[in-house]
Amino acid sequence: MKALLIPCLLVSSVALAAAGLQDEPVGYDDTPLLPGSKWRVHDKARPVPPIVRPGDGPAAPSDAIVLFDGKDLSQWTDGSKEARWKVESGYMEVNGTGQIQTREHFGDCQLHLEFATPEKVEGSSQGRGNSGLFFFGRYEVQILDSYQNRTYADGQAAALYGQTPPLVNASRGPGKWQSYDIIFRAPRFEGDKLLSPARVTVLHNGVLAQDNTEFLGATAHRAVAQYSPHEAAGPIALQDHGNPMRFRNIWIRKL
Ligand code: MG
Repeated sequence: MKALLIPCLLVSSVALAAAGLQDEPVGYDDTPLLPGSKWRVHDKARPVPPIVRPGDGPAAPSDAIVLFDGKDLSQWTDGSKEARWKVESGYMEVNGTGQIQTREHFGDCQLHLEFATPEKVEGSSQGRGNSGLFFFGRYEVQILDSYQNRTYADGQAAALYGQTPPLVNASRGPGKWQSYDIIFRAPRFEGDKLLSPARVTVLHNGVLAQDNTEFLGATAHRAVAQYSPHEAAGPIALQDHGNPMRFRNIWIRKL
């Protein structure tokens, strides 16, 4: 009988899912309240999180906005007109036409990006494999070839440029594909007053490099970063620092 029962249960759970009946509340309404919460322990009325279908490997999950899928730059501008970076073989490449930025504006977000520094090593320190990811066009998570390339600590890959070095150097070598998975929290302003700073968590090739780190202000070179008030959402920019950096598979989720 057992052998027959198991397939029956499987069928019935599939049927229930198809009918949406698995959404029936499950839990309790007589348990203690959680401290500081309107919900009880195992509260049956507590809303369940939305379902997101994860991507296969590094592919975008079902609720992400794909910013670059390897085919075109339709999601990007040079600030006013079409972005003109080279697109070929599933990646885009910096080509001296200046930084590009997203058409859509974002505040709090989760972002996935893959990059490769030039296989042919040229230059050193900040001159080697330099780009950058700028939230609001102003808060930079540094992109650099930091594989056996000495530079100042707060300027290497996954640094908040000019502010905070990464916890570790998880860089892969020149020409190898690398990833950033980033959770960014936008700063909050009330009029001219900063209520809370921007914060960022960065996984570099899956390794924690920034752990909910505060931005001290908008990225600056040889100067202390300062905040100036701005809108609740802004573009995300990729820097053209004169090196033929490559990017692929960029997606974002609004938080
Ligand atoms: Mg840079």
